[in-house]
Amino acid sequence: MSDYIDCHYARTRADRSACPFLAGPLSVETAIVGGGLAGLTVAFELARRGRSVALIEGHRIGWGASGRNGGFCAPGFATGIDGIAARAGNETARELYALSREAVLYVRDNLDRLGMKVDPARMGHISARRVPARAELEEYRDKMAPLGAELRVLPTPETRALLKSDAYFESVVEPQAFAMQPLDYALALAREIEAQRGHVCENTPALALHKVGASYRLMTPRGRISARHVVLCTGGYTGRLLPRLRRAMLPIATYAMATEPCAELLDQAIATPMCVSDDRRAGDYYRRLADGRLLWGGRITARTRDPADLAALLHRDMRAVYPQLGDVKIETAWSGLMSYARHFMPQIGSSEEGLWHCTAFGGHGLNTTALGGRLIAAAIAEGDDRYRLFAPFGLDWNGGPFGPVAAQLVYWKLQAQDWWAERKIRR
Ligand SMILES: Cc1cc2nc3c(=O)[nH]c(=O)nc-3n(C[C@H](O)[C@H](O)[C@H](O)COP(=O)(O)OP(=O)(O)OC[C@H]3O[C@@H](n4cnc5c(N)ncnc54)[C@H](O)[C@@H]3O)c2cc1C
Repeated sequence: MSDYIDCHYARTRADRSACPFLAGPLSVETAIVGGGLAGLTVAFELARRGRSVALIEGHRIGWGASGRNGGFCAPGFATGIDGIAARAGNETARELYALSREAVLYVRDNLDRLGMKVDPARMGHISARRVPARAELEEYRDKMAPLGAELRVLPTPETRALLKSDAYFESVVEPQAFAMQPLDYALALAREIEAQRGHVCENTPALALHKVGASYRLMTPRGRISARHVVLCTGGYTGRLLPRLRRAMLPIATYAMATEPCAELLDQAIATPMCVSDDRRAGDYYRRLADGRLLWGGRITARTRDPADLAALLHRDMRAVYPQLGDVKIETAWSGLMSYARHFMPQIGSSEEGLWHCTAFGGHGLNTTALGGRLIAAAIAEGDDRYRLFAPFGLDWNGGPFGPVAAQLVYWKLQAQDWWAERKIRR
């Protein structure tokens, strides 16, 4: 039986109960593969409408990226508004951005209802620049204002009053963003689905998918499910169940760690409860936890095997920004896989009648899994066709064996550009 990897959220999770594995045949209207926040949202949204659902997860609920991430829930996507508009047009870009803002509110409302209210004092996300960029940030703020974003630009002294590091210059604050405990949220959604008579099965990998007449059959080690609709929500852990889905995504690893409790030391470094990140393509992201620890994440790689010295690597990144935290001990360090499409946007849609996918949320999944899950559930239950807004972002080929190599080269190139830009201003 699979259990959680050792990470901060698994250690501190509120709910220690487990779901059964699937034993025997089951017939439902919709079967969902993948117990991350995408699959859970689809199942929750259908179950609360009284529709019959079964969700199967190969490991534990929230075992994948959804139970291991930074916990920042912020509007937007893994790519910026200009990239979206270039492919889908300005109007679609605007609609998608509005949906992403709505999804942030939806997650916040859910947390509130489920007894995990977001502390108003801990709202906000600060994105700090590592090179001076005031004019650029003000231009960005003005561009996003007509879309409803209420961004605030902080000059360098104000930024450094909050983030006591000379690594940073100006920053931009997104007040709508907030931090959450993502594994607790995933587990609470699973309990809600069960309370609405939905089936939730752990340790139940889908091994094969067959079309039988107008239905689908999902085979698992000890049982099978017949369903009119199947939704694949397998994220960075997508296997060969539907080869064209696997061929359309790249699994990208990223890393995080949690320190020992060290609130007094943190006061000398990070004087804000907001989520923090820098603007590099694979920059640092971190936040102070309510229990006095620091959660710190960063780095990406197309290599999915963990480096042996993961905790030391992240500790070095933290020390490079905050030398004053040099003596802080690391309690846990872990990795997780994100799914990226070549276009950097989620893949939300249907590849044939009754067969849906809701995946590829990249490093921006806490609002977009909610967005995608709600759209797919509304499409199945009510024929709502807003999921078609994602049609321009289809299942593009990932480049086969060259995909991971190309992704790694692009990352190294961006890293080198960031390094060079910083070096110029520090000389
Ligand atoms: C370290 C890290 C930090 C991150 N930080 C943030 C952040 O701060 N903010 C943010 O917005 N996003 C963040 N992300 C990204 C975010 O976590 C993901 O985009 C999101 O959780 C993806 O959700 P998902 O449901 O698509 O996939 P997952 O949560 O990965 O779930 C997919 C599930 O499918 C299951 N599965 C796969 N194949 C099968 C099968 N055949 N049968 C049964 N089950 C199967 C897997 O076991 C897995 O549990 C981070 C990601 C990582 C790894």
